[in-house]
Amino acid sequence: MDTTPELSFEFFPPRTPAGNDNLMAVHTELAKFEPHFVSVTYGAGGSTQDGTYDAVKNMLSAGSSTAPHITGVGTSRDHIKSTIRGYLELGVKRLVVLRGDLPGGMVERGHFKYAEQLVQFVRDEFGDDLHIEVGAYPDFHPESSSPATELQYFKRKVDAGANSAITQYFYNADSYFAFVEESLRSGIDIPIVPGVMPITNYATLIRFSDACGAEIPRWVRSRLEQYQHDEPSLQAFGLDVVTHLCFDLLDNGVPGLHFYTLNKTDPVKEICQRIGFQQTN
Ligand code: FAD
Repeated sequence: MDTTPELSFEFFPPRTPAGNDNLMAVHTELAKFEPHFVSVTYGAGGSTQDGTYDAVKNMLSAGSSTAPHITGVGTSRDHIKSTIRGYLELGVKRLVVLRGDLPGGMVERGHFKYAEQLVQFVRDEFGDDLHIEVGAYPDFHPESSSPATELQYFKRKVDAGANSAITQYFYNADSYFAFVEESLRSGIDIPIVPGVMPITNYATLIRFSDACGAEIPRWVRSRLEQYQHDEPSLQAFGLDVVTHLCFDLLDNGVPGLHFYTLNKTDPVKEICQRIGFQQTN
């Protein structure tokens, strides 16, 4: 059995033609690592729907196995069905299925209150052909009431038909391994691939992490604060922290690494090279 960890890269849909050119340039460069798949996020509430579709189409045309993200909150069954049909026509074989967070101002959650219901719906409507990825949270989801219920709900997504999971990012490998171990004890045996967020900007990272519940260890946070106006030092420190984390994960047998690229080539490329992945020409 081939146990080489698989790479995957996540992108977000750009809003401008220049952003699109940048995205495809980043995709071209990172595709040279021959990732298992790439994925394109989707703004819950529908804000980036066309952008996601276009980016997915472009990446598929460029030869990448591409997984659109779909989100359930604030949407209808018909909308999900027609969106997935459109993706199937493009040749999509994998989806990242999420609940999503309601954009500010929206209060109506709609039919899909949790990702579990959307996973079940996709399975019921489209059978077993699509590979379904779901989200998982080693540092726990901000709405989680306890580790035990979080695992229970995670298991329900798996029982509804998820094939594998990608985690929210984290900087403490122990939290990931504890989560995987507890998942296994709860009877969850799908691959749980760590999501890896390169560190490139202090303010953005703090804002994201506060919103999504990812913990930044105090020693990392303090150094980032110290370097926040010293770009080269921050970049160098960020690369070292994330490279070390990836080595730790790989040394302990993770099934893959999923990079949140933020549509940037350099940090992801540098980390992948440092941890031993080679680009083809
Ligand atoms: P769920 O699995 O539904 O869980 C959400 C919360 O509800 C958890 O606290 C869970 O414990 C709880 N819960 C679950 N089921 C129940 C239940 N039956 N009763 C009570 N509580 C329950 N967001 C986007 O908008 N677009 C994206 O493209 C996107 N991509 C992402 C990619 C990855 C890999 C990850 C990890 C997250 C992504 N997100 C995205 C963010 C995601 O939408 C949010 O984290 C969201 O808050 C939770 O989504 P989920 O699918 O994990 O939800």
